[in-house]
Amino acid sequence: MNWPNAAESNLILSGADLKPALLISLLSVWVLVGVFYYLNTYTRRRYFTIWTAAWLFYALWLTLLFFGRLTWGGSLWLLWLTEWCLCVSAVFLLWGSLRFLGQRVKQRLIALSLGFLLVWSYVDSYCLGMSYAQVHWSVFAFIGLASLVTAGAFYRYRRMRQFLGAALLSIGFFFWGAYLSAYPLFETPALAAAGFLISTVLQLLIAVSMIILVLEQVRYTHQRRDLFAREKLQNTVWFTEERYQRLFQQAHEAIVIVARTDLRILELNSAAESLLGTNVRQATRQSLISFCQIKTPPEKAPKSGHQWFELICSQQPLNLVHKNGTLIPADTIGAPIEFGGQSAYQFFFRAITDRLRLEQQLRQAEKLSSMGQMISGVAHELNNPLTVIGGYLEVILASHNLPAKTRQDLGKVAHESNRATRLVRNFLAFARSHPVHRQMANINDLITGVVELRKFDLSLANVKIEAVLDHTLPATSIAPDQIQQVLIILINNAMQAMSAAHEPRCIRLSTALKDGAIRITVEDNGPGVPPDVEARIFEPFFTTKEVGVGTGLGLSIAHGIMSEHGGHIRYERAALGGAAFVLELPVVAVEVPRGSSTEIIGAKASLAQAAPRAEKILVVDDEKSIVEMLGEMLGLLGYTPSLCHSASEGLRRIVETKFDLVLSDLRMPEIDGPQFYRRAMELDARLERRFIFLTGDTVNEATKSFLRSTGQPFLAKPFRLASIEEVTRQTLGAAQGASLAIPLANGPGAS
Ligand code: ADP
Repeated sequence: MNWPNAAESNLILSGADLKPALLISLLSVWVLVGVFYYLNTYTRRRYFTIWTAAWLFYALWLTLLFFGRLTWGGSLWLLWLTEWCLCVSAVFLLWGSLRFLGQRVKQRLIALSLGFLLVWSYVDSYCLGMSYAQVHWSVFAFIGLASLVTAGAFYRYRRMRQFLGAALLSIGFFFWGAYLSAYPLFETPALAAAGFLISTVLQLLIAVSMIILVLEQVRYTHQRRDLFAREKLQNTVWFTEERYQRLFQQAHEAIVIVARTDLRILELNSAAESLLGTNVRQATRQSLISFCQIKTPPEKAPKSGHQWFELICSQQPLNLVHKNGTLIPADTIGAPIEFGGQSAYQFFFRAITDRLRLEQQLRQAEKLSSMGQMISGVAHELNNPLTVIGGYLEVILASHNLPAKTRQDLGKVAHESNRATRLVRNFLAFARSHPVHRQMANINDLITGVVELRKFDLSLANVKIEAVLDHTLPATSIAPDQIQQVLIILINNAMQAMSAAHEPRCIRLSTALKDGAIRITVEDNGPGVPPDVEARIFEPFFTTKEVGVGTGLGLSIAHGIMSEHGGHIRYERAALGGAAFVLELPVVAVEVPRGSSTEIIGAKASLAQAAPRAEKILVVDDEKSIVEMLGEMLGLLGYTPSLCHSASEGLRRIVETKFDLVLSDLRMPEIDGPQFYRRAMELDARLERRFIFLTGDTVNEATKSFLRSTGQPFLAKPFRLASIEEVTRQTLGAAQGASLAIPLANGPGAS
């Protein structure tokens, strides 16, 4: 553009204003360059770098225009250079805008465009020879277009984010583009000056708008980051809360959270709900105190929440009250906590009902075990005298020359002795340490016998007893005395239970074969067992009867006997209306062990003095009376035994004499039965198969295995003449090479 008359006046500006207007515009562009450069380093965005370059070239164009056009006149190379600067500025502006819109432009294309524009502006300036204004129409149209594209880019951005800066930039670039496109029209210096001033305003507007936009972007990013951080925090809180809830609800221990002031329930988990029989909705209206049974004298009743807290924690165990009134002992741990911004206490409760029951069972088992030991000791002490009494009775009754009256009286003594023996055996059965004598028996016969036995007493008590028997029942191997004892226990219990009941009173015993087992039912039409004690009736020492009437041992003994028989006993509500005890016994078919009876039969039959026998028998027992009694018995059988009271004496006799048979006690002081056996064999190897052992009331595992290892028979106290005769005869026979072997299980004491 050629401005020939600098003094020409146009509108309010004159041609003299051109230079200052250009300078102002130049300065504003440099401000713009500075702003973009700063924003570039601050934001590190690629498009700022490109735009900065665009503004730099534009500033260069203006600078060249300022110095060159005003100072150097219209040289062609300057024209070429200014034109090229403007073209470069336009390319960079366009490139930056495309980048701002997220479009990627290949750098090679940019370089090609710049090269093309360099050639184009050269051709423009040197070859076409057109006037300055004509040449630059296309260049200004190009840069104007680039500016309009930038305006469009900001407009689009503004629609995406409601940024004021983007709107202002869109307007600024639009007008700046319009100004640049129209630049060749400003032909007079006054118009050009006005144009430069307008562009100054627009450039400053762009600079300010850019700052506003960046600030808005920063604020937006911060807001987004805050939002994201808050969301993250919320997620973390939510996750923690959910994990806490899961732990809280799934905890095995009951957890209750209460307000510190009045112990009002604020929260409780599912374990606590089932422990207390309530739910959150109901419980949160109540105080924890209403679920605790704490006995305190009124004057010592806690007055504050803290005192209640201390009292509850001090209760070990604490009795919690279930909604249905059941008391549940529980271990308690409490701690002060903050709950939902409120001061609270947290309690952990663990029900210890099972533990207490087990402890109680253990105590009972210990009690029972010590009682068993005591009974076993007493029975042991009674067994020896009874053995001697029974033995001598047999010896006396076996002799012929007794007056009939004496024989009759002694028969009564024998009867009572038998009773005492049975009693001792029952004690031993309770202490579970006595080998039980089993035999094949028919349960129906047993029941008929028991009914006969109890009929008289029952009729006195106005109780009718009936037996409904299944006659197809097979015989089974049982200890008849023990099963009889069970039946008597059940009948006595029924009788006692019915003592206050209305008439008619009735007890029914029935038998049946069910699923291959024998079922005996003992039922009555009394009051039955109250449901609240039903679970405990088989416990030892549990009784609802008065002291002196009940011991609480009947049903536990019955239970023990049934278990030893491989059967069981259970309680049911009777069809008759009262209690029914159902016994089940397996059908066991085994041979009747020989010589199992320990009853004195001498009262009925007398034994003739046997012919003298030559076999030499040694009897060794530390109990003098037993040794003598055995001597008498063996004498009756025709033997002349050597008797001694200690194992050492026995060994001396073995050295002196060649015995055919040795009867030895198992439990002796100093040298016991097993030791004696071994040493006797060392002295006389023949004796290995010529031993019969005498056992007391207790046969422990060690003794049993010793007996098994020797394979020799044993005789259990109290001894009966018949069994002594049989075992002696068999052992002698076996030892003398007879084919009959006597295994342990066939011994009279075998269980
Ligand atoms: P005891 O008879 O010495 O009390 P038991 O072990 O034989 O001991 O019985 C335990 C409890 O079972 C009795 O105290 C009684 O409460 C209950 N019981 C047993 N048999 C009957 C029955 N036939 N009817 C009602 N209650 C019974």
